[in-house]
Amino acid sequence: MDNAPTNDQAITRDSLYGTNAESTYAGITSFMRRRYSRDLRGVDVVVSGVPFDTATSNRPGARFGPRGIREASCAIAWERHWPWTFDPFDHLAVIDYGDCAFDPGFPQSVPDEIEAHAEKILSAGCAMLTLGGDHFISYPLLKAHARQHGPLSLIHFDAHSDTWPDEEGARIDHGTMFWHAAREGLVDPSRSVQIGLRTTNDDHQGFEVLDARQVHRRGCAQIIEAIRARVGDHPVYLTFDIDCLDPAFAPGTGTPVCGGLSTAQALEILSGLRGINLVGMDVVEVAPAYDHAEITSLAAATLAMEMLCLYAARHKVD
Ligand code: MN
Ligand code: MN
Repeated sequence: MDNAPTNDQAITRDSLYGTNAESTYAGITSFMRRRYSRDLRGVDVVVSGVPFDTATSNRPGARFGPRGIREASCAIAWERHWPWTFDPFDHLAVIDYGDCAFDPGFPQSVPDEIEAHAEKILSAGCAMLTLGGDHFISYPLLKAHARQHGPLSLIHFDAHSDTWPDEEGARIDHGTMFWHAAREGLVDPSRSVQIGLRTTNDDHQGFEVLDARQVHRRGCAQIIEAIRARVGDHPVYLTFDIDCLDPAFAPGTGTPVCGGLSTAQALEILSGLRGINLVGMDVVEVAPAYDHAEITSLAAATLAMEMLCLYAARHKVD
């Protein structure tokens, strides 16, 4: 890159590759200043938002999550993501696709629209990093990913199991998606793991649970080991509900629960997963209206970057 100041790289950048300095406080706020584009040719990873929060059971507002995460990402977009020794944007063509469109007046049609959104991107050979939205969006995303990769290992960070029993059918609930996903064979619970849980549900549908107390007592290194042993080299979908973090680190979310992970613990665990066979990822449940000083959105943007680095570590072409 030359040293001339540039701005609005979301629309002005020449290449899909590379990290370029831009004023953190100015310009069009695509995720990490990637190009806003719907052209999937030559693209490795598509970042898109799903601004849906109709499945929320407590405080709504995660529909503003994609915008909040994009804006916060601009504060960290000027340099190579620390502490990784390579820049994922040197190896992967990443675009910001904008948001999945749907009519909130027809909530029952939204799951299919999210699935079609994912299907279009995945069938073009691109991987997805999705910004929620409440956690329900992971369910149609998993359907599309499982169609391509078969039953997936789920690595699920959350305060909640999201495997509470439901009835078969078309209920839209952000606490039961993984009950459905397990029963429908979208995920393989015997190769899946949930981290950070601290709410009561006695039926885990076969998922391994590394609850919040285990993370605090055993430490990150042992948790990393346990996750790696569970998923092996199986294709992984990684989903991060931001309420996995303690409310001190992520107040901007719909159902905060005390006793959670610190942002540092979550980053430490994610970076320890280098080498896993990651095929899809999302960060959900960011509700900026309850946030303070962008703590939550910044955590979400940083975690999303950690996921991109993980993806690049496995898939990058030198
Ligand atoms: Mn959740
Ligand atoms: Mn949760």
